[in-house]
Amino acid sequence: MTWTRIPGVGTAPTGVGATARLYYDDATLREFDATILGLRELAGEDGVPRSAVCLDRTAFYPTSGGQPYDTGVLDEIRVVEVLEDPADTSVIWHLLAEPGPPQGSTVVGRIDWTRRFDHMQQHTGQHLLSAAFEDALSASTVGFHLGSTSSTIDLEIARSECSEASMRSEAGERSQLTWETAFEVEAAVNAVVWQNRPVTVSIVDEEAILSIPLRKPPAVTGEIRVVWINGYDASACGGTHVGATGEIGIIKITGIEHYKGGVRVSFVCGRRALKVYQASLHTLQSAGLALSVGPDDLLGAIARLQDETKVLRRDVRRLREAVLDDEAEALWAGALVVDGVRAITSHWDGKDFADVRALAGRLRERAGALLLFAVTEGETVRVLVARSDDLELLHAGAILRALLDALGGRGGGSATVAQGGTPYHPPEMILTAFQDALGGLRRTAST
Ligand SMILES: [Zn+2]
Repeated sequence: MTWTRIPGVGTAPTGVGATARLYYDDATLREFDATILGLRELAGEDGVPRSAVCLDRTAFYPTSGGQPYDTGVLDEIRVVEVLEDPADTSVIWHLLAEPGPPQGSTVVGRIDWTRRFDHMQQHTGQHLLSAAFEDALSASTVGFHLGSTSSTIDLEIARSECSEASMRSEAGERSQLTWETAFEVEAAVNAVVWQNRPVTVSIVDEEAILSIPLRKPPAVTGEIRVVWINGYDASACGGTHVGATGEIGIIKITGIEHYKGGVRVSFVCGRRALKVYQASLHTLQSAGLALSVGPDDLLGAIARLQDETKVLRRDVRRLREAVLDDEAEALWAGALVVDGVRAITSHWDGKDFADVRALAGRLRERAGALLLFAVTEGETVRVLVARSDDLELLHAGAILRALLDALGGRGGGSATVAQGGTPYHPPEMILTAFQDALGGLRRTAST
């Protein structure tokens, strides 16, 4: 949806003749013949340089006004992209998959009708949806993008048009569209679709345009192409549209989100809407099968699963605590007591390090404990050193450093808890390093 000046006829500034746009007069034209006016090498959206031809006339739509280009063939050569010359928009270039015939040749062009008709459905749907939001919420459309799977319009919604409940209290300047309102607009706009109103085009000059109830005043001067949806909307637009609103089939809003202080509405029309419905139904049916319920009972089944999960999580937490309590008790009982220090050493393979920390937490709550723990995790070994608060003469960080000097690796910590990592060593070597560290402490204590 853009203001479109009708490109002039004659020789364009690029030196190549202007291209007559056959789709202006007949958006259903799928096949045409034309003469090649010029050849050039051009890079399109993928950046790949390709042979491009300019024709004296074309039914191919070039990317413009939010609507993507048509594809198809010129003779039997694939047209991969169509664009307006950036230096002169009256010239249309057709980018080809392989070099085309020489200048002056006559070619037959055929557009990919499935792609074009899809674009016509989405584009005409956009006109209707924009008009419906204008009618319902005085929301003007300030942006339009026709994407490959869904399209968007960007709305400016006045604050006063939003219900109290839909306002964001913490960001008062932002207006929000509720799904409830979106559904109402959707119902209204689909009623217009099914009225099968004719969609027509007229070319209006600068003076006459003033008497037309356009949704927006024209932004350009000169002749303006106006697209009418009988008795409902008039918009200046250079795009391709269906002949009557019934061809759109259905307009479905698929998303609403904040965008630049306004609202971005995603939508699909026609065949795309059918595809979305098929995919959604398939998802619902698959989810129902997985949970052995019908689609209508899905929400109940999910709520039951969530409740069950909550109970199971609580049970698992309790069991884990009980297991850790038992494990801590066994480690305490098996510890070596030297000079009043209960030295507890252990190595595990692949044990959850959070559990190791939890064990250390339990044990160092008791008096007189020094803990040297290691866990092998693949190619690395994680080491944890901790002591009870009463063993003030021992420094966990210093003991870890001594271990890392022996085993290699990095780490650090406080006087009470320290942890680090070393490259892989066999468990025996780690336990030996632990014993060496304890031996060093005994020697220090005895001197
Ligand atoms: Zn349009």
